[in-house]
Amino acid sequence: MFPGPLGQSLAGEALARGLWSLEARDIRDHGTGRHRAVDDTPAGGGPGMVMRADVLAASLDATALPGDPRPRLIMTPRGAPFRQARAREWAAGPGLVILCPRFEGVDERLIEARGLSEVSIGDYVLSGGEIAALAILDACVRLIPGVMGKEDSGREESFESGLLEYPQYTRPREWEGRAIPEVLLSGDHAKVAEWRRREAERITKERRFDLRGPAGS
Ligand code: SAH
Repeated sequence: MFPGPLGQSLAGEALARGLWSLEARDIRDHGTGRHRAVDDTPAGGGPGMVMRADVLAASLDATALPGDPRPRLIMTPRGAPFRQARAREWAAGPGLVILCPRFEGVDERLIEARGLSEVSIGDYVLSGGEIAALAILDACVRLIPGVMGKEDSGREESFESGLLEYPQYTRPREWEGRAIPEVLLSGDHAKVAEWRRREAERITKERRFDLRGPAGS
């Protein structure tokens, strides 16, 4: 699963150039018994399987030695919602250790004992943490200096100012009877900026009233 789609395009080129790196670990390397089991039945009964604290700890400890400054994340739908402000923070930091569970989840004692930060990428349930981790990595990697072109990285994007992005247009000037808004062709930079700000405010108000205010934390 790793680097998966992050081996392509901008992130992939940056990976090849050494602007970021990735070490994927197979939790099963630390599994128990002949079948290298990583999970067991839930204490208290019920459906599904729970990942074992001892197995996950062995895998984590082999990756992150004591004193490792990297935040340790665990992907889970009940975690803190992942937001752009975090992506900025983590992209500027020493890196991340991300645990990607499967099945019903992990033994709670692991989260406590290893001080894991629980992070969610949204209010829906995936079948494993890998796609969530890829989403987080993608959001962080594109913010690393040199990954995107100068022109793109200087842009203010959705969420940065607490506003969603204004509508974008490009050639042709007219398409299927639809024209580009006149003001964008006027060459008047102040008017263009004013139109974009108003549109960004309108769209944010219509779609995400919760976003109003300083850039989301
Ligand atoms: N029983 C759990 C869901 C398990 S889904 C519950 O009810 O909360 C299996 C795994 O997929 C999770 O352990 C987690 O690592 C990952 N996952 C699923 N949805 C996710 C989300 N929205 N954000 C981050 N990780 C998620």
